[in-house]
Amino acid sequence: MGEHPASTRRAIPQLTEDECVRFWRRAVRNPATGCLEWVGARNRKGYGWVTFRRQPYLAHRVAWTIAYGAIPTGALIRHKCDNAPCVEHLEIGTQADNWNDFITRQPIKFRATRVRGDQHWRRRNPALSAKLVGAKMVGKQAKLTVEQVLHIRAMIGSRTQREIAAAFGVSRATISFVKSGMRWGHVV
Ligand SMILES: [Zn+2]
Repeated sequence: MGEHPASTRRAIPQLTEDECVRFWRRAVRNPATGCLEWVGARNRKGYGWVTFRRQPYLAHRVAWTIAYGAIPTGALIRHKCDNAPCVEHLEIGTQADNWNDFITRQPIKFRATRVRGDQHWRRRNPALSAKLVGAKMVGKQAKLTVEQVLHIRAMIGSRTQREIAAAFGVSRATISFVKSGMRWGHVV
């Protein structure tokens, strides 16, 4: 679940419709893992790579950006499923979270350095935390996967926000957020 060299975190450009369509063509459901996985190029650690305008980007970071918008400075996109090629089960966090995850997976006797309480990144970086909470990227409402966001966008217009919220078990505010972030409504 560790992330990547800083060079791979360059800002992702605003993509054209064709670029988005090309991108999602290379994301395929793998019945064995249950994940939507990148079937294009992968790096040594198994993370998907994609090239736009001669620049390489990590596929899961592109997936997040298409679904939710630009990744705030200082934030990382992490895999909830621990499956590197997955472009679906993503969450936003920080380097401190990656470290916490790593520590948590170690045997108990090695956990003395686990960061908690006041050391948590959301306390240490309240500005970033507030930004992400405001955008509903973290906290109670950050429940939707990338693919769910794409499905919700497909439903907006033919169903009410109330119906969609009920179908996905989220609040109407979340649906409203997805709708307001509809930069890429064609990507479904
Ligand atoms: Zn996954």
